[in-house]
Amino acid sequence: MSAAIYLAKGREKSLKRKHPWIFSRGIERTEGDPQLGETVDVFTHDGKWLAKAAYSPASQIRARVWSFDNVAIDRAFFIQRFQSAQMLRDDIIVRDGLTGYRLVAAESDGLPGITIDRYQNFFVCQLLSAGAEFHKQNIIDALIHCFPECSIYERSDVAVRKKEGLEERTGLLHGELPPSSVVIEENGVKISVDIIGGHKTGFYLDQRDSRQQAMKYVQDKEVLNCFSYTGGFGLYALKGGAKRVINADVSQPALDMAKFNAQLNEFDISKKRAVFLNADVFKLLREYRDQGTQFDVVIMDPPKFAESKAQLNGACRGYKDINMLAMQILRPGGTLLTYSCSGLMDQVLFQKIIADAALDANRQVKFVERFEQAADHPTDTAYPEGFYLKGFACKVM
Ligand code: SAH
Repeated sequence: MSAAIYLAKGREKSLKRKHPWIFSRGIERTEGDPQLGETVDVFTHDGKWLAKAAYSPASQIRARVWSFDNVAIDRAFFIQRFQSAQMLRDDIIVRDGLTGYRLVAAESDGLPGITIDRYQNFFVCQLLSAGAEFHKQNIIDALIHCFPECSIYERSDVAVRKKEGLEERTGLLHGELPPSSVVIEENGVKISVDIIGGHKTGFYLDQRDSRQQAMKYVQDKEVLNCFSYTGGFGLYALKGGAKRVINADVSQPALDMAKFNAQLNEFDISKKRAVFLNADVFKLLREYRDQGTQFDVVIMDPPKFAESKAQLNGACRGYKDINMLAMQILRPGGTLLTYSCSGLMDQVLFQKIIADAALDANRQVKFVERFEQAADHPTDTAYPEGFYLKGFACKVM
C-alpha cells in the first residue's frame, strides 16, 4: 500500500482539469509517511482516487502528478512517456533537419521536473523535482532502452532544486563524457554546443523557430544581436544575408564559441562582417545612443529577468529600459526583434511594456509579427504555464 494524500474539500478542481500541481494548502491529510520524491496516491477528501503523484515535502508544490491513470510509476512508465515525447517531435525533427532538440519538456510532456535535451546522441538531463530525483535510475534505464546508443549527462545545476530539498548536481550518468564541442544542426545551420560548460543544458533550443523567422528581416541590413550567447540569432542573420552583425554578450566563452560557430558554417566574416563584442548590453546601448550609432535591426533576447513574482516589477523596468534603448538606436523603418522568456510575464504584459518603451523612446512602433517557443517546446492544454517564451517583430518609425 503506497502512501496517500487526501485533498481538502473542493481542492480537486484543478486536478480534474488535469493540471499536475498539488499545493500544500490544498492537502487535508497525508497517510503513510511518504519520503522525498516517493510516489503517492492522491484522493479527494471523500476518498475518490485521482492520480499518482511524486511527494515533495520541502516544496509549496507538495506533489506533482505523474499520471491520472492508476499505473505503476516505473521504468516502463518512463519508456512509454519518452516514446510519446519522441513521437510528438518526429515530424519537426525531419522538417527542420534537427540533430539537437528538446526531447522532454517537463510538465508539458507529462513528466514534471524533467527536462531532457538531445544533442546528437548526447542526452542532457535536468532533474529538478523530488520525484525526478527519486526515479533517476528508472529515467536512465528508460532512456537507454529507447535510445541504445545514448550517452547521458546530468546538468541539474539549477537553483530551483533547493525548493525541492535537493542539492545541485552535474556529472556523467551513462556512456561517454561529452566533448567540449558537440556540433548539432538546425535549419541547415551548424552549432557547436558545450554541454558541460555551457548555459543550462548547453544551448537555447527554444529560440530555434524565432531564429528562423528572424532571417527574413536581415538581408543587407546592419544587425545588432544583443545577448548573443553562442551566436544563435547572429548565425541566422549571417545566413540571411546581413551586411554586418554585431554580437554582444558578457560571456567570453560564449563569444568565442559564437565566432567558432560562424567559421564552422563557413560564413564570410572577413572585413568585420561579424563582430563578437564583450560588453554589458545595458551600457553598450547607452553608448551607441549617445554616440549616434544606428542599426537597421536590433535583436533583443535577454536572460530571464523574473524568477519569482516578487521580481516581476523590476523585470518590467529592465525590459522597458533595454527595449526603449533599442528603439532609440534604430534607423527609421528599422526592425526590433524582441523576446521575453520570463514565464511570469505574459504576452499581454510584454506587449504593454513594448508600448511603454515606444512612448519613452518617442518613436512610433508597430507590431508586425508574433513569436513563440519552438515546436519541440509544446504547451499542454492542461498546463498553460508551459507557454513562457514570447516575442515580437516591431517596425520602429
Ligand atoms: N540569444 C541567445 C540566448 C541568450 S541567453 C540564443 O539564441 O542562443 C542570455 C545571454 O545573455 C547569455 O549568454 C548571458 O551571458 C548574456 N548576458 C546576461 N546579462 C548580460 C548583460 N548585462 N550584457 C550582455 N550579455 C548578458
